[in-house]
Amino acid sequence: MNIHEYQGKAILKAYGANVSAGFPALTVAEAVEGAKKLPGPLYVVKSQIHAGGRGKGKFKELPADAKGGVRLAFSIDEVEKHAKEMLGNTLVTIQTGPAGKQVNRLYIEDGSDIEKEFYLSMLVDRETGRTAFVVSTEGGMDIEAVAHDTPEKIITFSVDPATGIMPHHGRAVAKALGLTGALAKQAEVLSAQLYKAFVEKDMAMLEINPLIITKDGNLKCLDAKVGFDSNALYRHPDVVELRDLTEEDHKEIEASKYDLSYIALDGTIGCMVNGAGLAMATMDIIKLYGAEPANFLDVGGGATKEKVTAAFKIITADPAVKGILVNIFGGIMKCDVIAEGVIAAVKEVGLQVPLVVRLEGTNVELGKKIISTSGLNVIPADDLDDAAQKIVKAVNS
Ligand code: GDP
Ligand code: MG
Repeated sequence: MNIHEYQGKAILKAYGANVSAGFPALTVAEAVEGAKKLPGPLYVVKSQIHAGGRGKGKFKELPADAKGGVRLAFSIDEVEKHAKEMLGNTLVTIQTGPAGKQVNRLYIEDGSDIEKEFYLSMLVDRETGRTAFVVSTEGGMDIEAVAHDTPEKIITFSVDPATGIMPHHGRAVAKALGLTGALAKQAEVLSAQLYKAFVEKDMAMLEINPLIITKDGNLKCLDAKVGFDSNALYRHPDVVELRDLTEEDHKEIEASKYDLSYIALDGTIGCMVNGAGLAMATMDIIKLYGAEPANFLDVGGGATKEKVTAAFKIITADPAVKGILVNIFGGIMKCDVIAEGVIAAVKEVGLQVPLVVRLEGTNVELGKKIISTSGLNVIPADDLDDAAQKIVKAVNS
């Protein structure tokens, strides 16, 4: 689960990290009110969307030479002007995809004078199973480009959970950033604060880009991108409250209500599968036969008819879906239950696209019979290979 920059900064501030003062705003009036509470004369008007690259982003509704989603303002009037231009418009950045994201919130910040911009992030390194720091002197810009062109400028190391963060880790961060003296000391303190926040809040990612040195010689987190491990949210009700559903895929929200593991993808073939492994194999084989999956969907081992119906509705509601492949291995889950769920869903929402169903396992004969006698236009398949070929062919013809 991701949160907005201003929410992330509030968490970092609670752990003692240096961030700018600021106020979130849902309206132009709130933006002006927020700015009035700041000292000025420099303000920053920042779009709050769950995507990075806002500064270099472009608003769909504005002329191509209009400023991006993070703007400096030198007066309260200018804050107002920017807020008017940004709120309600769609910001397209390298991370939003071409559809962009509507800006419904702004963050009005006290502007900083920047001496230098660095990059610092933390994430769970799956290889070592530890929390890792990723640090670079090349901050403020696209870190992917740095990783590609000058990988030697990115320093990473991980922290042993048995010891937790130690002074030498902080010194490693300072050294990677070329800091000495008081700034090195600040980097050590900040590293410990960020580590504590990361671990205690069960973050999955924490990215500060840029981490800056201000003109008056202090380290400051100027941006914050924070994501949490969804599996640990049950122990962080305070974090769950920060969830902004308008930022999430509505199909994924709907799926989470029914406890379905659903991820929207860019392809045309909707998949309904039980088991994550089988779901991935299904996606692979769809690709093998030249098409792309529209989603990952694992209905789980013990799905009910209601759950299957909900899953089917989510898939058919996606206008990108040009065909559906149901691939179920009945173990705990029985094929007849799946068949009934599919039939019930088709009767309720109709079927505008080809549907291929492959069932195997417990009660398979009964399941196949339910489908073949339903009178619905369902293409039966015998195995995974057959099913994938049939749905790709149906979609292409
Ligand atoms: P992003 O584009 O989504 O990563 O948004 P950031 O919060 O990182 O802002 C983009 C860029 O705007 C930063 O890299 C800075 O160069 C600039 N910026 C943001 N805040 C300030 C500020 O307080 N003062 C100045 N001078 N520039 C800022
Ligand atoms: Mg940034």
